[in-house]
Order: sequence, then structure tokens, then C-alpha cells
Amino acid sequence: MATVAGVAVDPGHWIGGERVRSAGTFTDVSPIGETPLAEIARGGAAEVDAAVAAAHRAFPAWARTSRDERARLLHAVADGVEKRIEELAQVETADNGALIRSHRRGVMPRVAHNFRFFADWLLKLGHDDFETRGHTNHVSWDPAGVCALITPWNAPLMLATWKIAPALAAGNTVVLKPAEWTPLTASLLADIAAEAGLPDGVFNVVQGYGAEVGGPLTAHPDVRRISFTGSVPTARTIAAAAAPNLTPLSLELGGKSPLLVFADADLDLAVDLAVEQYDNAGQVCLAATRLLVESSIADEFTARFLEKAGRIRQGDPREETTDIGPQIHRRHLERVDGFVQRAKADGARALMGGGPNEELGGLYYRPTLFAGAPEGAEILTEEVFGPVLTLQTFDTEDQAVAMANGTRFGLAATLATGDPERARRVTERLVAGTVWVNCFFVRDLKAPFGGSRQSGMGREGGDWSFDFYCDLKNTVTAPWAK
Ligand code: NAD
Repeated sequence: MATVAGVAVDPGHWIGGERVRSAGTFTDVSPIGETPLAEIARGGAAEVDAAVAAAHRAFPAWARTSRDERARLLHAVADGVEKRIEELAQVETADNGALIRSHRRGVMPRVAHNFRFFADWLLKLGHDDFETRGHTNHVSWDPAGVCALITPWNAPLMLATWKIAPALAAGNTVVLKPAEWTPLTASLLADIAAEAGLPDGVFNVVQGYGAEVGGPLTAHPDVRRISFTGSVPTARTIAAAAAPNLTPLSLELGGKSPLLVFADADLDLAVDLAVEQYDNAGQVCLAATRLLVESSIADEFTARFLEKAGRIRQGDPREETTDIGPQIHRRHLERVDGFVQRAKADGARALMGGGPNEELGGLYYRPTLFAGAPEGAEILTEEVFGPVLTLQTFDTEDQAVAMANGTRFGLAATLATGDPERARRVTERLVAGTVWVNCFFVRDLKAPFGGSRQSGMGREGGDWSFDFYCDLKNTVTAPWAK
């Protein structure tokens, strides 16, 4: 057992209702001070085989469990999460360096909500029967089987439970592979699921590195669905691994989303929305990292932005007063810094930041704003996944739309405008899975979520989650003899 932030965390896998060790381990390091937290079991093909076999064995009984019973058990998991919000928050903050205050008040309550939402949605799931020449069509959502869920480190438990909850609600069994930089809350969730009474083998966790665990898991012939959140290069590897079995994929990938600020916008709101993009030290897939501002207000917007962003309190994420914490890992900080240094070499000017925070040391990176990057520069087109924004200006709506759509991504877009007609016109032309008008990050699980272009494949949320995690079946019945 490891003890992290005063909480006992089992460093093993969770397979078929048992803790399983591996011969090898890897060291999980906290981004706060880069201190080792735990030696985690390092899984491979053998552990993947065992977990898929356990999930496969558990599937028929779980698939036959009534909707009411599945919903009851998922609510029991949510109860367990709610009882342990403080512990989960502490452990997640130690593991990924995101703010304790948002874990306590936002993220962990949402984790519980993920289970409750999909439990309740399951009970309403259905489609009205319809007739074809006197024949009745009946649509049913049959569980698909074993689901492989692979998740990133930037919001570990939140993103994992967006997948776990609908997959289990639909009647599937699950093998979760958490990111190797943040393995801990998945282990705590296994404890909670067991305490809630989830049958053995319904929920499994295999810890380890991407290629070593994710590789065999995504190539496994008994896996019926793969849901992945992470980067584009990994998605390509996963798609190739899934291809021989034609395993259906859901991909939630990166972005380079724009924030369009029109001259008719409420400027205070626009500046607030822009500064919010540094949240989680920029490690947010949906972040609007490209600030596209109408030329006539660009100077005033920039001045107000620099004033407000200059007041961001960077520091220890365990302090309630901190606004942004460290980068997840030294390798990630170096990657972020590589983008920043190349942007400078390309001719972009850092109006703010532009390097690590030397006063704080460690993995703290200064919130950075670039202007003057030449068209086509890497910093305008590639996802940095750190606290790095760029500023560009436009003169016309057409130009704004062309710039907004000018990357290979299409995850989200945010608009600041006072004109509802303009909002409608521009939104219609944007390529994005989610568009926010005069707001940001408002997310309802009823809504379809996902990305266009290379930001992803498929949508999850509400019915869309069940469409993905189920085999839909249409039964056509001829009229019965009288
Ligand atoms: P990553 O692709 O490096 O890793 C994600 C997961 O994939 C990890 O669990 C990793 O171990 C695993 N993995 C790595 N190689 C694998 C392989 N060969 N086979 C199977 N699994 C493998 O991504 P990351 O650095 O952890 O996360 C950051 C990325 O995630 C960013 O691009 C970000 O935009 C994206 N993201 C997207 C969303 C979304 O909803 N669209 C949400 C959060 C993060």
C-alpha cells in the first residue's frame, strides 16, 4: 500500500475483483516538487489478457442485469465517490498538480454526477416503436461487450468516469488503462466500485505504460469498443491496432481552439474568457489558445488582458488561493518550452511570460502570450497543451471565420460578441464540436461532445454515449395472426 496525501492507495492492478501485482513497477512522481509518490504495478500483455478475460467472463451476467439494478449500483458508486471527495481531491492534486479547490468543489462532485447522470439516462433510454406496412419496428440498445477505456492525465478521474459510467450503464464490462503519469485515483475508484457492490470483473484497471498496456489492449480480439481520450499521434497508433478486428473507436483528441472577440463584445467578459484559458496551467483540450481579436479593439483588449493575466497567482495547487499550478511532468514542461523557444525563433514576440517560472522553480511555467507570429507558424497551428496563448487580429467576419477554421483541429470555438445575429452567422460556419457564445466550459452530459477533423471521431453524451457503447438492434415483427 502507498500512502499519498494521507490516503492509502493500492499500487496494483484491479482484475476480476482482486488486486494483482506485476513483476515490474514504475515510479509515479508528483508534479509538486517532483517527489515520488508510489511504485505502481507495471502491466503488460499478460495483465491485459487477464483483465479482458475477467471482463469477458463477467459480461453475460452484467448484460442481463436489469436496468434498475445497474442504475442502483451506479448510484451506489456515486455515493462512494461523494463520501470520499476530499480524499480523491487530495490524491488527484498530488498526482497531476491541478488545483485542490477545483477538485474539491468542481471536479469530484462532477465525477459522482457522471455516474448518476448515466444511471438515470439508462432508465429513460428508448425509442418509440414505429410501423412499416403493418409491421412493428422495435429498436433496442444491446450491450456490446468488453470496452477498453484509455485516458489521459490532465483530468484523470473526470475523463475516465465520462467513459466508465455510460459503458457500465449500457451493460458492458470495462478495462480501464489510466495514464501512467496519474494512476492513483483509478485505483481508488476500484475500491469504491467494490464497496458499492459492483460484481467482480465488471470494472477492471490495468496500470502501466501506453505501448505496453494500451498496445495489447487495443489489439485484443475480445474487446468490442475502444474509447480513447488523448493525443492525435496515439490515436493513430490505436486506430491501426484496432483495424484488424475492426473494433469501433471513439476518439476525443487535441485541439487548437479559437476565441473570437468582436468589437461589439463586452470587453470585460472577453478578457475574462481569454484569461480563463490558462486554467489547469493550459493543460485543457478545449482551451481556446488562439485569441482572434477584431483590429479596432486589439490594443485595448491586449492592455486589459495583460493587466488581468498579470494578477494570476501561480503556485502550490494545494493552496486554496492558487490560480494555476505546475506542468504535469518535466518531460511535458520541456515540450512546452520547446514550442515557446521555436515560436520566438519564428519571430513571435512574447508579450508576457515566455519561459519557466524561475522564482518558483520546479515545473512552474509562466503564463505566456505571443503576438506577431508569422502565418503558418507552428505556434499558431500545433497544440502546445501548456499555458501558452497567441494573439492575432482580424478586420472582417470572413477573415475571422477563415482564421478560426484554419487548423487541422475542430474541437471547440468560443465567441465574444454582443450581436445575436452575428453569433448565429459565425457559429453556422465554424468547424467545431462545441461552440460557446459569451461563455466557456459550460458542459451538460445531455449534449453531444467530441471533435471534428483531427480533434476526434464520434460523439459521447446522453443518447450518443449509448449509441457508441451498444449494438443497436432493430426488430421488425409482422402482424400476429388474430
Ligand atoms: P497521450 O496520447 O500521450 O496518452 C493518452 C493515453 O494513451 C495514456 O493513458 C497513454 O498511456 C495511452 N497510450 C499511449 N500510447 C499508447 C498506445 N500505443 N496504445 C494505447 N494507448 C496508448 O495523451 P496525453 O499526453 O496523456 O494527453 C494529452 C492529450 O489528450 C492532448 O492532446 C489533449 O488535447 C488530449 N485530450 C483530449 C480531450 C478531449 O476530450 N478531446 C480531453 C483531454 C485531453
